[in-house]
Amino acid sequence: MLPSLLEYSAAQLTELLGALGHKPYRATQLREWIWKHRAASFEAMSNLPPALRAELASRFTLRPLELVELSQSSTGSGTRKFLSRLQDNHLVESVILPAAVGEGGSRSSRLTLCVSSQVGCAYGCRFCASGLHGFTRHLSAGEILGQILAAEEVAGERVDNLVFMGMGEPLANLDNLLPALDRILDPHSLGIGARHITISTSGNVPGLRRLAAYGKPLRLAVSLHGASDDVRSRVMPVNRKWPLGELLPALEEWARTQKHMLTLEYILIHEVNDMLPEADKLADIARRLNAKVNLIPYNTVQGLPWVRPSEEHCRRFCQALLSHRIPVTMRYEKGHDINAACGQLRLRRMEKEQGATPDQGAAPSRA
Ligand code: SAH
Ligand code: SF4
Repeated sequence: MLPSLLEYSAAQLTELLGALGHKPYRATQLREWIWKHRAASFEAMSNLPPALRAELASRFTLRPLELVELSQSSTGSGTRKFLSRLQDNHLVESVILPAAVGEGGSRSSRLTLCVSSQVGCAYGCRFCASGLHGFTRHLSAGEILGQILAAEEVAGERVDNLVFMGMGEPLANLDNLLPALDRILDPHSLGIGARHITISTSGNVPGLRRLAAYGKPLRLAVSLHGASDDVRSRVMPVNRKWPLGELLPALEEWARTQKHMLTLEYILIHEVNDMLPEADKLADIARRLNAKVNLIPYNTVQGLPWVRPSEEHCRRFCQALLSHRIPVTMRYEKGHDINAACGQLRLRRMEKEQGATPDQGAAPSRA
Protein backbone atom coordinates (compact mmCIF):
# COMPACT_ATOMS: atom_id res chain seq x y z
CA MET A 1 0.00 0.00 0.00
CA LEU A 2 1.42 3.39 -1.00
CA PRO A 3 0.95 6.10 1.63
CA SER A 4 -0.92 9.16 0.41
CA LEU A 5 0.46 12.69 0.37
CA LEU A 6 -2.98 14.17 0.99
CA GLU A 7 -2.60 14.42 4.76
CA TYR A 8 0.77 16.20 4.57
CA SER A 9 0.83 19.72 6.02
CA ALA A 10 2.80 22.51 4.31
CA ALA A 11 5.63 21.98 6.82
CA GLN A 12 5.70 18.23 6.18
CA LEU A 13 5.81 18.73 2.40
CA THR A 14 8.71 21.17 2.82
CA GLU A 15 10.52 18.69 5.02
CA LEU A 16 9.92 15.84 2.57
CA LEU A 17 11.15 17.79 -0.43
CA GLY A 18 14.07 19.18 1.59
CA ALA A 19 15.13 15.62 2.37
CA LEU A 20 15.03 14.93 -1.39
CA GLY A 21 17.30 17.93 -1.97
CA HIS A 22 14.72 20.47 -3.18
CA LYS A 23 14.12 24.10 -2.22
CA PRO A 24 11.00 25.11 -0.21
CA TYR A 25 9.30 26.71 -3.25
CA ARG A 26 8.99 23.21 -4.73
CA ALA A 27 6.84 22.24 -1.74
CA THR A 28 4.56 25.20 -2.43
CA GLN A 29 4.26 24.11 -6.06
CA LEU A 30 3.49 20.56 -4.98
CA ARG A 31 0.83 21.74 -2.51
CA GLU A 32 -0.80 23.86 -5.19
CA TRP A 33 -0.94 20.90 -7.53
CA ILE A 34 -2.52 18.72 -4.85
CA TRP A 35 -5.12 21.20 -3.59
CA LYS A 36 -5.54 24.15 -5.92
CA HIS A 37 -5.50 22.10 -9.12
CA ARG A 38 -6.65 18.83 -7.53
CA ALA A 39 -4.02 16.94 -9.56
CA ALA A 40 -4.81 13.23 -9.58
CA SER A 41 -1.30 12.16 -10.58
CA PHE A 42 2.27 13.35 -10.14
CA GLU A 43 2.81 13.17 -13.91
CA ALA A 44 0.38 16.08 -14.31
CA MET A 45 2.62 18.39 -12.22
CA SER A 46 4.25 20.01 -15.23
CA ASN A 47 6.41 22.57 -13.42
CA LEU A 48 8.09 19.97 -11.18
CA PRO A 49 11.30 18.30 -12.39
CA PRO A 50 10.53 14.91 -14.03
CA ALA A 51 12.90 13.08 -11.65
CA LEU A 52 11.03 14.48 -8.64
CA ARG A 53 7.67 13.52 -10.16
CA ALA A 54 8.92 9.98 -10.74
CA GLU A 55 10.36 9.75 -7.22
CA LEU A 56 7.07 10.90 -5.66
CA ALA A 57 5.01 8.57 -7.87
CA SER A 58 7.11 5.58 -6.77
CA ARG A 59 6.54 6.37 -3.08
CA PHE A 60 3.12 8.02 -2.73
CA THR A 61 -0.41 8.07 -4.08
CA LEU A 62 -2.79 11.01 -4.48
CA ARG A 63 -5.91 8.88 -4.93
CA PRO A 64 -6.05 6.12 -2.32
CA LEU A 65 -9.54 5.08 -3.48
CA GLU A 66 -10.81 3.70 -6.76
CA LEU A 67 -14.47 4.10 -7.68
CA VAL A 68 -16.14 0.73 -8.23
CA GLU A 69 -19.87 1.48 -8.23
CA LEU A 70 -22.06 4.51 -8.54
CA SER A 71 -25.79 4.48 -7.85
CA GLN A 72 -28.05 7.36 -8.59
CA SER A 73 -31.37 7.87 -6.85
CA SER A 74 -34.28 7.69 -9.27
CA THR A 75 -36.44 9.91 -7.05
CA GLY A 76 -34.95 13.06 -8.55
CA SER A 77 -33.31 14.02 -5.25
CA GLY A 78 -29.90 14.08 -6.97
CA THR A 79 -28.46 11.81 -4.28
CA ARG A 80 -25.60 9.69 -5.55
CA LYS A 81 -23.95 6.99 -3.61
CA PHE A 82 -20.60 5.60 -4.53
CA LEU A 83 -18.63 2.66 -3.43
CA SER A 84 -14.84 2.78 -3.57
CA ARG A 85 -12.13 0.19 -3.23
CA LEU A 86 -9.16 0.94 -1.01
CA GLN A 87 -5.65 -0.20 -1.91
CA ASP A 88 -6.04 -3.30 0.26
CA ASN A 89 -9.37 -4.14 -1.44
CA HIS A 90 -11.67 -3.11 1.39
CA LEU A 91 -14.78 -1.21 0.40
CA VAL A 92 -16.06 2.15 1.66
CA GLU A 93 -19.07 4.13 0.64
CA SER A 94 -19.75 7.84 0.48
CA VAL A 95 -22.94 9.69 -0.44
CA ILE A 96 -23.25 12.92 -2.41
CA LEU A 97 -26.24 15.04 -1.43
CA PRO A 98 -26.87 18.16 -3.49
CA ALA A 99 -27.96 21.54 -2.13
CA ALA A 100 -28.34 21.24 1.62
CA VAL A 101 -30.72 23.88 2.88
CA GLY A 102 -29.42 25.70 5.92
CA GLU A 103 -31.13 27.26 8.87
CA GLY A 104 -33.69 29.86 7.88
CA GLY A 105 -34.23 28.08 4.56
CA SER A 106 -31.17 29.63 2.88
CA ARG A 107 -29.17 27.52 0.45
CA SER A 108 -26.16 26.98 2.65
CA SER A 109 -24.20 24.68 0.38
CA ARG A 110 -24.08 23.33 -3.12
CA LEU A 111 -22.66 19.90 -2.50
CA THR A 112 -22.69 17.90 0.71
CA LEU A 113 -20.68 14.73 1.11
CA CYS A 114 -21.46 12.04 3.65
CA VAL A 115 -18.04 10.61 4.55
CA SER A 116 -17.02 7.27 6.10
CA SER A 117 -14.41 7.12 8.84
CA GLN A 118 -13.86 3.35 9.22
CA VAL A 119 -14.32 0.12 7.28
CA GLY A 120 -17.22 -1.42 9.19
CA CYS A 121 -17.89 -0.38 12.75
CA ALA A 122 -17.16 -1.98 16.10
CA TYR A 123 -20.20 -0.50 17.82
CA GLY A 124 -22.71 -2.92 16.30
CA CYS A 125 -25.87 -0.81 16.64
CA ARG A 126 -28.69 -3.24 16.02
CA PHE A 127 -30.36 -1.25 13.22
CA CYS A 128 -27.23 -0.34 11.25
CA ALA A 129 -25.83 -2.05 8.16
CA SER A 130 -22.34 -0.61 8.80
CA GLY A 131 -21.91 -2.52 12.03
CA LEU A 132 -23.44 -5.78 10.84
CA HIS A 133 -20.10 -7.42 10.03
CA GLY A 134 -18.14 -5.75 12.81
CA PHE A 135 -15.04 -3.65 12.54
CA THR A 136 -12.38 -4.20 9.90
CA ARG A 137 -10.06 -1.21 10.16
CA HIS A 138 -9.75 2.53 10.60
CA LEU A 139 -9.51 4.73 7.53
CA SER A 140 -6.29 6.71 7.30
CA ALA A 141 -6.42 10.51 7.09
CA GLY A 142 -5.50 10.19 3.40
CA GLU A 143 -8.40 7.80 2.78
CA ILE A 144 -10.83 10.16 4.51
CA LEU A 145 -9.55 13.02 2.34
CA GLY A 146 -9.48 10.78 -0.73
CA GLN A 147 -13.26 10.29 -0.47
CA ILE A 148 -13.75 14.02 -0.84
CA LEU A 149 -11.54 14.26 -3.92
CA ALA A 150 -13.17 11.18 -5.45
CA ALA A 151 -16.64 12.67 -4.85
CA GLU A 152 -15.62 15.91 -6.53
CA GLU A 153 -14.45 13.95 -9.55
CA VAL A 154 -17.77 12.10 -9.70
CA ALA A 155 -19.83 15.27 -9.21
CA GLY A 156 -17.73 17.56 -11.40
CA GLU A 157 -17.84 20.27 -8.73
CA ARG A 158 -16.33 21.04 -5.36
CA VAL A 159 -17.69 19.72 -2.09
CA ASP A 160 -18.47 22.52 0.37
CA ASN A 161 -20.26 20.70 3.18
CA LEU A 162 -19.23 17.53 5.01
CA VAL A 163 -21.15 15.22 7.28
CA PHE A 164 -19.27 12.39 8.99
CA MET A 165 -22.33 10.15 8.89
CA GLY A 166 -21.01 7.38 6.70
CA MET A 167 -19.63 4.08 7.81
CA GLY A 168 -17.87 3.92 11.16
CA GLU A 169 -17.60 5.88 14.37
CA PRO A 170 -15.52 9.02 13.73
CA LEU A 171 -14.71 9.59 17.40
CA ALA A 172 -13.20 6.10 17.63
CA ASN A 173 -10.75 7.14 14.89
CA LEU A 174 -9.60 10.57 16.06
CA ASP A 175 -5.94 9.74 15.39
CA ASN A 176 -6.80 9.87 11.69
CA LEU A 177 -9.83 12.16 11.79
CA LEU A 178 -8.00 15.10 13.38
CA PRO A 179 -5.14 15.17 10.80
CA ALA A 180 -7.80 14.89 8.07
CA LEU A 181 -9.68 17.82 9.64
CA ASP A 182 -6.44 19.83 9.68
CA ARG A 183 -6.33 19.57 5.87
CA ILE A 184 -10.08 20.04 5.44
CA LEU A 185 -10.04 23.27 7.45
CA ASP A 186 -6.75 24.64 6.08
CA PRO A 187 -7.53 27.43 3.55
CA HIS A 188 -4.48 26.30 1.52
CA SER A 189 -5.79 22.74 1.34
CA LEU A 190 -9.54 22.05 1.12
CA GLY A 191 -10.57 25.15 3.05
CA ILE A 192 -14.04 24.04 4.17
CA GLY A 193 -15.27 26.11 7.12
CA ALA A 194 -15.84 24.39 10.47
CA ARG A 195 -19.50 25.38 10.45
CA HIS A 196 -19.89 23.35 7.26
CA ILE A 197 -18.61 20.19 8.92
CA THR A 198 -20.79 17.93 11.06
CA ILE A 199 -19.36 15.06 13.08
CA SER A 200 -21.91 12.41 14.01
CA THR A 201 -21.19 10.19 16.98
CA SER A 202 -22.99 7.41 18.75
CA GLY A 203 -21.56 8.81 21.97
CA ASN A 204 -17.91 8.03 22.61
CA VAL A 205 -17.36 10.10 25.76
CA PRO A 206 -13.52 10.34 25.80
CA GLY A 207 -13.65 11.05 22.06
CA LEU A 208 -16.09 13.92 22.65
CA ARG A 209 -13.73 15.49 25.16
CA ARG A 210 -10.80 15.15 22.78
CA LEU A 211 -12.79 16.67 19.93
CA ALA A 212 -13.80 19.58 22.18
CA ALA A 213 -10.12 20.13 23.00
CA TYR A 214 -9.36 20.30 19.25
CA GLY A 215 -11.07 23.65 19.65
CA LYS A 216 -12.76 24.18 16.28
CA PRO A 217 -16.41 25.28 15.95
CA LEU A 218 -17.50 22.04 14.30
CA ARG A 219 -21.12 20.94 14.37
CA LEU A 220 -21.95 17.88 16.42
CA ALA A 221 -24.76 15.38 15.87
CA VAL A 222 -25.37 12.66 18.42
CA SER A 223 -27.06 9.41 17.47
CA LEU A 224 -29.33 9.08 20.50
CA HIS A 225 -32.06 6.71 19.29
CA GLY A 226 -33.23 6.08 22.86
CA ALA A 227 -34.15 8.54 25.61
CA SER A 228 -33.69 6.07 28.47
CA ASP A 229 -30.88 3.58 29.17
CA ASP A 230 -33.30 0.67 28.75
CA VAL A 231 -34.37 1.59 25.26
CA ARG A 232 -30.98 2.87 24.15
CA SER A 233 -29.04 -0.19 25.33
CA ARG A 234 -31.45 -2.41 23.47
CA VAL A 235 -30.49 -0.93 20.11
CA MET A 236 -27.04 0.52 20.85
CA PRO A 237 -24.64 -1.73 22.80
CA VAL A 238 -22.29 1.28 23.15
CA ASN A 239 -24.77 2.65 25.69
CA ARG A 240 -23.60 0.02 28.15
CA LYS A 241 -20.09 1.43 27.98
CA TRP A 242 -21.13 5.10 28.14
CA PRO A 243 -24.70 5.19 29.51
CA LEU A 244 -26.79 8.37 29.47
CA GLY A 245 -25.53 9.24 32.96
CA GLU A 246 -22.06 9.72 31.44
CA LEU A 247 -22.98 10.81 27.93
CA LEU A 248 -25.37 13.62 28.84
CA PRO A 249 -22.96 15.50 31.17
CA ALA A 250 -20.29 15.30 28.43
CA LEU A 251 -22.79 16.72 25.95
CA GLU A 252 -23.80 19.46 28.39
CA GLU A 253 -20.14 20.42 28.60
CA TRP A 254 -19.92 20.46 24.79
CA ALA A 255 -23.09 22.59 24.54
CA ARG A 256 -21.73 25.05 27.11
CA THR A 257 -18.49 25.66 25.27
CA GLN A 258 -19.61 25.48 21.62
CA LYS A 259 -21.64 28.04 19.80
CA HIS A 260 -23.64 25.77 17.48
CA MET A 261 -26.70 23.94 18.69
CA LEU A 262 -26.29 20.20 19.10
CA THR A 263 -28.41 17.89 16.97
CA LEU A 264 -29.89 14.75 18.45
CA GLU A 265 -30.50 12.11 15.79
CA TYR A 266 -33.38 9.78 16.59
CA ILE A 267 -34.30 6.89 14.30
CA LEU A 268 -37.94 5.96 14.79
CA ILE A 269 -38.33 2.18 15.08
CA HIS A 270 -41.79 0.67 15.48
CA GLU A 271 -42.53 -0.35 19.08
CA VAL A 272 -38.89 -0.04 20.07
CA ASN A 273 -38.45 3.69 20.65
CA ASP A 274 -41.46 5.32 18.96
CA MET A 275 -43.92 5.15 21.85
CA LEU A 276 -45.28 8.60 22.70
CA PRO A 277 -43.99 8.65 26.33
CA GLU A 278 -40.49 8.32 24.80
CA ALA A 279 -41.07 11.62 23.02
CA ASP A 280 -41.57 13.30 26.40
CA LYS A 281 -38.28 11.86 27.68
CA LEU A 282 -36.53 12.90 24.49
CA ALA A 283 -37.92 16.43 24.90
CA ASP A 284 -36.48 16.58 28.44
CA ILE A 285 -33.02 15.64 27.12
CA ALA A 286 -33.23 18.10 24.21
CA ARG A 287 -34.24 20.90 26.58
CA ARG A 288 -31.42 20.06 28.98
CA LEU A 289 -28.88 20.21 26.12
CA ASN A 290 -30.54 23.07 24.25
CA ALA A 291 -30.50 20.73 21.25
CA LYS A 292 -32.62 20.26 18.17
CA VAL A 293 -33.96 16.84 17.23
CA ASN A 294 -33.71 15.18 13.85
CA LEU A 295 -36.21 12.35 13.49
CA ILE A 296 -35.37 9.66 10.92
CA PRO A 297 -37.93 6.96 10.14
CA TYR A 298 -35.99 3.66 10.22
CA ASN A 299 -34.66 2.72 6.82
CA THR A 300 -35.26 -1.01 6.36
CA VAL A 301 -32.08 -3.11 6.32
CA GLN A 302 -32.42 -6.54 4.77
CA GLY A 303 -32.03 -9.27 7.35
CA LEU A 304 -32.81 -7.07 10.36
CA PRO A 305 -36.07 -7.49 12.26
CA TRP A 306 -36.97 -3.82 12.82
CA VAL A 307 -40.01 -2.15 11.31
CA ARG A 308 -40.41 1.42 10.07
CA PRO A 309 -43.38 3.14 11.76
CA SER A 310 -46.21 4.53 9.63
CA GLU A 311 -45.91 8.12 8.42
CA GLU A 312 -48.94 9.00 10.50
CA HIS A 313 -47.23 7.70 13.65
CA CYS A 314 -43.95 9.50 12.84
CA ARG A 315 -45.95 12.73 12.52
CA ARG A 316 -47.55 12.16 15.91
CA PHE A 317 -44.15 11.61 17.53
CA CYS A 318 -42.93 14.79 15.88
CA GLN A 319 -45.99 16.70 17.12
CA ALA A 320 -45.35 15.47 20.66
CA LEU A 321 -41.88 17.03 20.55
CA LEU A 322 -43.20 20.22 19.03
CA SER A 323 -45.76 20.48 21.82
CA HIS A 324 -42.76 20.69 24.19
CA ARG A 325 -41.40 23.51 21.96
CA ILE A 326 -38.39 21.46 20.86
CA PRO A 327 -36.99 22.38 17.42
CA VAL A 328 -37.48 19.25 15.35
CA THR A 329 -37.02 18.17 11.75
CA MET A 330 -38.08 14.92 10.14
CA ARG A 331 -35.61 13.47 7.68
CA TYR A 332 -36.85 11.02 5.17
CA GLU A 333 -33.72 9.31 3.86
CA LYS A 334 -32.89 10.91 0.56
CA GLY A 335 -32.41 8.22 -2.02
CA HIS A 336 -34.18 5.47 -0.08
CA ASP A 337 -34.24 3.54 -3.37
CA ILE A 338 -30.43 3.36 -3.53
CA ASN A 339 -29.99 2.09 0.03
CA ALA A 340 -28.94 5.50 1.27
CA ALA A 341 -28.60 4.56 4.93
CA CYS A 342 -24.87 4.19 5.18
CA GLY A 343 -23.37 0.77 5.01
CA GLN A 344 -26.12 -0.71 2.87
CA LEU A 345 -24.53 -0.41 -0.55
CA ARG A 346 -21.33 -2.02 0.71
CA LEU A 347 -23.33 -4.77 2.37
CA ARG A 348 -25.18 -5.52 -0.87
CA ARG A 349 -21.95 -5.61 -2.87
CA MET A 350 -20.22 -7.82 -0.30
CA GLU A 351 -23.13 -10.23 -0.50
CA LYS A 352 -22.90 -10.23 -4.29
CA GLU A 353 -19.12 -10.66 -4.38
CA GLN A 354 -18.48 -12.94 -1.47
CA GLY A 355 -21.71 -14.56 -0.37
CA ALA A 356 -22.28 -12.29 2.64
CA THR A 357 -18.83 -12.69 4.17
CA PRO A 358 -17.02 -9.57 5.35
CA ASP A 359 -14.58 -7.78 3.03
CA GLN A 360 -11.57 -9.44 1.66
CA GLY A 361 -8.56 -9.06 3.91
CA ALA A 362 -8.65 -8.90 7.66
CA ALA A 363 -11.36 -10.73 9.55
CA PRO A 364 -13.65 -8.39 11.46
CA SER A 365 -12.86 -7.87 15.10
CA ARG A 366 -14.57 -6.00 17.90
CA ALA A 367 -12.12 -3.15 18.41
N1 SAH B 1 -21.17 6.18 13.95
C1 SAH B 1 -21.67 7.49 13.86
C2 SAH B 1 -21.59 8.01 12.47
C3 SAH B 1 -22.38 7.24 11.47
S1 SAH B 1 -23.79 8.15 11.21
C4 SAH B 1 -23.08 7.55 14.40
O1 SAH B 1 -23.67 6.50 14.61
O2 SAH B 1 -23.55 8.65 14.64
C5 SAH B 1 -24.84 7.06 10.55
C6 SAH B 1 -26.23 7.59 10.85
O3 SAH B 1 -27.14 6.78 10.13
C7 SAH B 1 -26.53 7.48 12.34
O4 SAH B 1 -27.33 8.52 12.82
C8 SAH B 1 -27.25 6.19 12.33
O5 SAH B 1 -27.99 6.07 13.48
C9 SAH B 1 -28.05 6.27 11.04
N2 SAH B 1 -28.53 4.97 10.60
C10 SAH B 1 -27.90 3.79 10.67
N3 SAH B 1 -28.71 2.81 10.23
C11 SAH B 1 -29.88 3.39 9.88
C12 SAH B 1 -31.11 2.89 9.38
N4 SAH B 1 -31.29 1.60 9.14
N5 SAH B 1 -32.11 3.77 9.15
C13 SAH B 1 -31.91 5.09 9.37
N6 SAH B 1 -30.78 5.61 9.85
C14 SAH B 1 -29.78 4.77 10.11
FE1 SF4 C 1 -21.42 2.31 14.03
FE2 SF4 C 1 -22.86 4.57 13.88
FE3 SF4 C 1 -23.69 2.30 12.65
FE4 SF4 C 1 -23.72 2.48 15.32
S1 SF4 C 1 -24.92 3.73 13.87
S2 SF4 C 1 -22.97 0.72 14.11
S3 SF4 C 1 -21.90 3.68 15.73
S4 SF4 C 1 -21.88 3.48 12.16
